[in-house]
Amino acid sequence: MKIIIIGAGLSGLSTAIALRKFIPASQPLEVKIYDIINPATGQATEQTTPQVSTSRPGAGLGLQANGLRVLEELDPALKRRVYAAGFPCTRFTWKTASDWLLGHEYAEVLPISRPLLINCLYETLPSGLVIQKKVARVIARQGRKPVVQFEDGSPDETADLVVGADGIRSTVRHDLFGNDEKYRPQYVGICAVGGVLDVPLPKHLLDNPSMLFFMGSTGVFGYSGLTQSDKTKLLYWSVYETDLPGRGLKLDHDLMLQQLRERHGNWTDPLIGQCLEKACLDNVYPIFVMPDLPYWGRDGCVLVGDAAHALPPRSGQGASQAFEDGEALALLLAGYLEKGHDLNDAISHSILGLFEVRASRVNGIKADALRWKDPKMPMSWLKTIGLYISLFILVRVRKVLNIFTRRDLWDVRDAVSKYLA
Ligand SMILES: Cc1cc2nc3c(=O)[nH]c(=O)nc-3n(C[C@H](O)[C@H](O)[C@H](O)COP(=O)(O)OP(=O)(O)OC[C@H]3O[C@@H](n4cnc5c(N)ncnc54)[C@H](O)[C@@H]3O)c2cc1C
Repeated sequence: MKIIIIGAGLSGLSTAIALRKFIPASQPLEVKIYDIINPATGQATEQTTPQVSTSRPGAGLGLQANGLRVLEELDPALKRRVYAAGFPCTRFTWKTASDWLLGHEYAEVLPISRPLLINCLYETLPSGLVIQKKVARVIARQGRKPVVQFEDGSPDETADLVVGADGIRSTVRHDLFGNDEKYRPQYVGICAVGGVLDVPLPKHLLDNPSMLFFMGSTGVFGYSGLTQSDKTKLLYWSVYETDLPGRGLKLDHDLMLQQLRERHGNWTDPLIGQCLEKACLDNVYPIFVMPDLPYWGRDGCVLVGDAAHALPPRSGQGASQAFEDGEALALLLAGYLEKGHDLNDAISHSILGLFEVRASRVNGIKADALRWKDPKMPMSWLKTIGLYISLFILVRVRKVLNIFTRRDLWDVRDAVSKYLA
């Protein structure tokens, strides 16, 4: 069975690891991954100038318990490496711009450098599996194998299965669904900036490792440690409401820095002050969300990760859902092959199965994250007080609700084996 994965981001690499782990040895497997970026170096083929970006977003991210569990199931050594590379936290902390505590939410979460996480996944795979090449087009043909065409004009390739793990601007999704607005990512009105700074971590962060979120009239400022192996690396981010910046626009770094300082200049936490002093912004990430798709694949092509369902970063689940997709797809394929289905049949059942097992879970997480509407910024003091009161209540209500509906308890193996049964 030949599988081509397009995209060597979190979903593409984890899907490859899952396929290699779960597909039975009786089924010879060839996996190839194509990406514009070389995952080992993070470099694109062409030299790109810093610009408004939607690919490879951000210096770091927070990986939640369900994502870590998938990594453990794929390869315990991989999970250990990822865990050691991150900054294990036991809670989210919500505060006001004046440093008043609004509440804690207890959760296992691992802030980690995105390039390091990608590297951990990449190094789990045999060398040579990821090829640096841009895919121009995927042709899905009923009753025939899909064809992959390349931007550099090199010969087309066919595969038994093509996995579109090519992120929010997915070429594969475009080739499956066309240009219709209702199948395109939608801007949610906010942008994020941030990075990593050399700042000694304060005692409160070392004693009680936490991801901190400060809310104010001009946006959200957050920070956490980046890795347990270096107590001087701080991951920070600022999220704010703004019109959609032009894609590919050359960035004005001085203006971005000035705006960051204007947004959070009078916020009380001393670490925010240090961040504003030292900040060096090299990118801005407009936040897009994918509308619910009616299916995630057909005719030998399937979408995983952000290509299928980009979630609002507020959910903190984008990476974990990408990992769950990869594991579910591999388990479905392995399950159908083990039941004796022929290859084509196993592939088409798995494409449908992935959607049926996963879409309602992912759409539920998205709907939860979108339920909270951001008020227009900058907010009046009255609205800001209203926001604080709502958050104070919400954190406590969520603590109770979480007892009944913990999103991080969903088990991929369990869901797939129930589906296959
Ligand atoms: C600001 C921000 C903060 C976030 N914070 C968090 C967080 O804290 N926790 C969390 O879980 N999630 C977070 N997310 C979401 C998370 O980053 C994504 O869900 C995750 O990266 C999706 O992985 P992916 O592999 O599907 O897509 P991507 O990471 O976008 O990878 C897609 C890959 O496909 C490649 N590619 C694209 N087109 C082609 C082509 N034509 N040919 C070849 N290769 C191609 C790209 O180069 C890229 O490497 C955040 C997102 C944003 C924007």
